[in-house]
Amino acid sequence: MINVSKLKKGLVIDHIAAGSGYRIFRQLKLDELNDVVILMRNVPSQKMGKKDVIKIENHINLDLEVLGLIDPHATINVIDNGNRTKKIRLALPKRVEGILKCKNPRCITQYEKVDAPVFYLANEENKTYRCSYCDSPTQFVEGDLG
Ligand SMILES: [Zn+2]
Repeated sequence: MINVSKLKKGLVIDHIAAGSGYRIFRQLKLDELNDVVILMRNVPSQKMGKKDVIKIENHINLDLEVLGLIDPHATINVIDNGNRTKKIRLALPKRVEGILKCKNPRCITQYEKVDAPVFYLANEENKTYRCSYCDSPTQFVEGDLG
């Protein structure tokens, strides 16, 4: 296994489903950071078999909504002075704003400019959300993200 030096200060996004790491990397625009960022793929994991891990050598604001949508089972460890000081568990967001698009062609959000349509979680199993304007169900698929 490749040895990656231990973080002194930063964030570790752990327990990412193998294969989702790059998607998260792109979606959170980690390639635009000036900090050291490491994406490790297919790391052996007792719990998961294989997992992806992202290390960021700084404390940055991560979009937890987007992260939770892509992989609600990931965890975020906050590292200070080489020790974990905080562990954030993600969850599928109950409410998302400005991420999803309504699939109902007659919905007001389709023909009037709504900057950030709001959706509410309807079914956790299949990541279905309901539009707050027309109540139509919209399923989250990663392709919906820009
Ligand atoms: Zn709608």
